[in-house]
Amino acid sequence: EDIPKCPICCEDLDLTDRSFKPCKCGYQVCLWCYKDINEKLNGRCPACRTPYKDQAPAK
Ligand SMILES: [Zn+2]
Ligand SMILES: [Zn+2]
Repeated sequence: EDIPKCPICCEDLDLTDRSFKPCKCGYQVCLWCYKDINEKLNGRCPACRTPYKDQAPAK
């Protein structure tokens, strides 16, 4: 009942999605939407507008 859902596509977040924290503000999206945001929506967190790139650990 209490399965968290992706706020963008409304799909249930699986374990991988749930351990994936794209933004330090805590706004969680599924990996699918994360990709989509990076490819089509200028790669910013929908909640706080921080670019995801800026938060990615250095390669
Ligand atoms: Zn999603
Ligand atoms: Zn954020």
